[in-house]
Amino acid sequence: MKYLSTRGDATPRGFSEILLEGLAPDGGLYLPTRYPKIDAATLARWRSLKYHELAFEILSLYIDDIPADDLRRLVTDTYTPAVFGTDLITPLKPLEPGLSLQALSNGPTLAFKDMAMQLLGQLFEYELARRGRRLNILGATSGDTGSAAEYAMRGKKGVNVFMLSPHGRMSPFQQAQMFSLQDANIHNIAIEGVFDDCQDIVKAVSNDLAFKREHHIGTVNSINWARLLAQVVYYFAGYFQATRSNDEMVSFAVPSGNFGNICAGHVARMMGLPIRRLVLATNENNVLDEFFRTGTYRVRGSAETHETSSPSMDISKASNFERFVFDLLGRDAQRTRSLFKDEVEQRGAFTTSADEFTRIAGFGFVSGSSTHADRLATIRDTWQRCGTMIDTHTADGLKVAREHVEPGIPMIVLETALPAKFAETIVEAIGREPDRPAALHGIEALPKRFKVMPVSAEAVKAYIHQNAGP
Ligand SMILES: *Cc1c(COP(=O)(O)O)cnc(C)c1O
Repeated sequence: MKYLSTRGDATPRGFSEILLEGLAPDGGLYLPTRYPKIDAATLARWRSLKYHELAFEILSLYIDDIPADDLRRLVTDTYTPAVFGTDLITPLKPLEPGLSLQALSNGPTLAFKDMAMQLLGQLFEYELARRGRRLNILGATSGDTGSAAEYAMRGKKGVNVFMLSPHGRMSPFQQAQMFSLQDANIHNIAIEGVFDDCQDIVKAVSNDLAFKREHHIGTVNSINWARLLAQVVYYFAGYFQATRSNDEMVSFAVPSGNFGNICAGHVARMMGLPIRRLVLATNENNVLDEFFRTGTYRVRGSAETHETSSPSMDISKASNFERFVFDLLGRDAQRTRSLFKDEVEQRGAFTTSADEFTRIAGFGFVSGSSTHADRLATIRDTWQRCGTMIDTHTADGLKVAREHVEPGIPMIVLETALPAKFAETIVEAIGREPDRPAALHGIEALPKRFKVMPVSAEAVKAYIHQNAGP
């Protein structure tokens, strides 16, 4: 399998070549040259596989430059009950007939990003060893992504993580999660500023190409193809649990921000998984809902980006969205380039033609959005009627899912985080603290390891230089 860029660079690249990369050189995103089609016999065979076996089968279709035995070992080491809590790895939790949650948040940081990031940690360590290389991952986080990356990369050979976060602005729980890591290769840098300052520093360091090259600076952001690919697996796993035979269809509802999670659902559907609807849910930051309702994609400035109680969906533009648009446009790279480079980058928006807009239905997408009041109501209702406590992001998904339920089609809502991470809103909704997994009791009291720094790219560079290793 080879990969191409959504903006026209068709240099054939293998999986290992794009694994450690972010954007393609022409500014586009990598996609496989085609989506392998799963025939009925294969789908029937996959139904009885364990999660790690299923993951191996799916990944093998997209990765042909890692020997099969090695890939099997990496995947088997990743998806274990010890890390993800159950044999099923992503079990369904029925809420009522025809409606269930798929638990994706039982990894170490209690959010679905662990599903992909844990595999990425294994793949990075493997590929860096194979090439005799090192990688210094630099990132900025306001909470979720940073901790998932740190827990995936901790102790991994050949990798250091330098994670910037706004000093004193994360919740005590989030700080404890990240700063309690004592691994020598994990570096928490608390910047005396806000999240945007952290992001600006990452950009400034990455734009210093000489520094970047010399220190092997890389990222683990959500446009990484391997992350997306790892997420395809749980759509298959959810489908097999919700159905008895492969003639049945299901729908998935996905709390969305950067369009990574639901894009994996799109890939699964393109492979032939019988998905009827992909229900995209946003919070008040409804860039994507607006697109699927109107055909206009208009990115927002920071003044127009709301801080909400489902903060991991507070995005102003959706970094993976170009992948879907490329497919929507019949893989016309020139048109994709013109929409994203000429229109979004210059004017901040594009509108599809009427003909392009009508094609969306053929891809199964529908959408909706949710507000803080909706989240409170959904959390309360789910607790009172089903006895299940859900987090704020999952609540956005469930609220919109209910608007798109169809008789006879099971609806699966992806549970993207556990309520323990968002205690404040849970208390507001139901008047009690969420339960915390036993392993995380008392983490706020653990010793913390982090370095406070001013808003200065130079200070961060100096720190990386001292700690990046040979
Ligand atoms: C990252 C995240 C999302 C959004 O996922 P995307 O892949 O960016 O669309 C939703 N919920 C939670 C809890 C997250 O951490």
